[in-house]
Amino acid sequence: MLKITISGVRGRVDEGLTPETVLDFARAFGTYLKGGKVVVGCDTRASGEYLKGIVFSGLLSCGCNVIDLGIATTPTVGIMTKHLKAKGGIVITASHNPNPWNGLKFISSDGLFLVPLEFEKMVKIYENKKFSERDKGTVAKFNHANRIHIDKVAKAIKRPRRRFTVVVDSCNGAGSVITPLLLKKLGCKVIAINTNMKLPFPHGPEPTPHNLKELSAAVIKNKADIGFAQDPDADRLSIVTSGGRAISEEYTVALCALYVRPKKIVINLSTSSLVDEVAAKINARVFRTKIGEIHVASEMKKIKAEIGGEGNGGVIYPKVGMNRDSLAGIGIILALLSESGKSIDQIVGELTEYFLAKDKLECQTVADAEKILEKTKEIFRNEKTDSTDGIKVYLKEGWIHLRASNTEPILRIFCEAKNEAQAQELLLGIKSKLL
Ligand code: MG
Repeated sequence: MLKITISGVRGRVDEGLTPETVLDFARAFGTYLKGGKVVVGCDTRASGEYLKGIVFSGLLSCGCNVIDLGIATTPTVGIMTKHLKAKGGIVITASHNPNPWNGLKFISSDGLFLVPLEFEKMVKIYENKKFSERDKGTVAKFNHANRIHIDKVAKAIKRPRRRFTVVVDSCNGAGSVITPLLLKKLGCKVIAINTNMKLPFPHGPEPTPHNLKELSAAVIKNKADIGFAQDPDADRLSIVTSGGRAISEEYTVALCALYVRPKKIVINLSTSSLVDEVAAKINARVFRTKIGEIHVASEMKKIKAEIGGEGNGGVIYPKVGMNRDSLAGIGIILALLSESGKSIDQIVGELTEYFLAKDKLECQTVADAEKILEKTKEIFRNEKTDSTDGIKVYLKEGWIHLRASNTEPILRIFCEAKNEAQAQELLLGIKSKLL
């Protein structure tokens, strides 16, 4: 199956994501841009080189001049698209999906992902197969992208005053080279694990606590101040405390906000209430958008928010770039440790722990999913709700959020509460009311 969402296209290589699909999407993007400079980077998946050749062919056939970054993180490609004044960028990655998957993310000249209207326009070109054929373009390698990205992070934060011992687990992904370099630049003693880019992926590629046992052990063994984990395209970041505890990715944006002390912070509707708690401490206003990086980034741009992101560990820090960026997140968290003089365990210990329970409801059709959303609104008509994306219901025990998947006829359910049993109770409760 080929998944087409506002975050790009994804599928299993040679099944959903065939060479023809990749070629036609590259041609559609080149046609949409009307030629010009396009920056391309890829993560470390085995299929990366193979798909890169196809992407280049598609772009060249439309008269695009390709800037090849080689292996690069998604935020690096975003930053370089703007920095090199390119018309667009493509990242060849399936983000946190397993190795047999790959995909394409599309970036516009301002470094943000294509907004839904732009994306739809490009998908129309893909569907109609009316591709422009211009004078053939060129390919040039660019080798300084990592340095430029690292410099932007280093400039955007106060340099740590202490020499932190840091363990980083890059999951043998696109962050494997750039991240240890950034940490050294910030004066850290670095222990980098899982940086063999030829062997993706040594553990489940999502940086969620159950995938971070090796990192936790390495933090304890090396008596490190903190451990960081990235997903394969290094846009998501999660944290292991000095005590070796892998904390939920929901902490990442909240902790970054503690350092940045923004006036405005933008997150999506499903992001933890932890951010509201932090925002209340620092007098920041919280704005919530639909799920998806581009919705958060567009709102941030519109209202000039100083920081934003998503609860999956994706931090957007405009001083560095307009994509979710684990490197910006690492810089900010280290600056927070340095400025506060506290350990990560202390900082986390001062915040409320929230628990998220998730499930999904299979529906026959998209219309059935809509009906269930309507039913939910009816059930909770006397409660405070938010319909920005599906429906979110605020209850005294916590909140429930139901939203339809963009690709399948299923409803995703998220419930958050201050203890695990209560989160599960909310989940069971809503399911029993709807089934
Ligand atoms: Mg990712």
